Amino acid sequence: MVGYDDILAHAGKAHLDPVGAFHPTGDDGAPPDCRTLVLFGPGEPGFWTHLTASPEMQDRRPDPVDRWSRRVLGDLARSLGAVPLFPFDGPPWPPFIAWAKRTGRVWSSPVTLLVHDRAGLMLSIRGALAFPGHITLPDAPDAAPCSACAAPCTSACPVGALSAAGYDTAACHAHLDSPEGAACMTQGCAARRACPVSATYPRHPAQSALHVAAFHP
Ligand code: SF4
Ligand code: SF4
Repeated sequence: MVGYDDILAHAGKAHLDPVGAFHPTGDDGAPPDCRTLVLFGPGEPGFWTHLTASPEMQDRRPDPVDRWSRRVLGDLARSLGAVPLFPFDGPPWPPFIAWAKRTGRVWSSPVTLLVHDRAGLMLSIRGALAFPGHITLPDAPDAAPCSACAAPCTSACPVGALSAAGYDTAACHAHLDSPEGAACMTQGCAARRACPVSATYPRHPAQSALHVAAFHP
């Protein structure tokens, strides 16, 4: 049977990195025969270089990152004997936010966005693989990074659009429309960048800019 080290090795070659994993129960909304669910994000460092050279980024058609995810995670699923699942396949949409929290590596941050133990507020989930067998998983961290943090994420947005009160998307869009929004458009969301966990995560600024551009075309 496939082990967690096999998953790590195959995913690494595919430029994917496990976000976390768990053993679903009947309440989790996983496929009925799934005994282990593994969520994947971009494999760093180097994901941006790989992605920009991919056929999906070269063909100039819509949704290149989702199409890349479908192809690469689909191939990975075939190699490992799993079923691929995607957050953009719906309705009904698979409960990826609940799954992420079930891994024990993802929490709600003080600005309500999800925060990950290694990616911080730069968390990106490209899809998941549902395995039919019970795979032994590494231990999750004891606590969220937020439990020992002064929460600079709550005050970094220049217009207060991301705060403990949540996400004011209208204020964010208005700022991104202004000349002062150039830093967020070219480097990514300032609140996400302010997170000390995000700061140690080697995501290329151009990839963060791509996410902002998708939110604010
Ligand atoms: S992208 Fe910029 S304006 Fe929007 S929430 Fe983030 S920091 Fe604020
Ligand atoms: S800045 Fe601190 S409190 Fe905010 S998400 Fe990052 S670790 Fe959590």
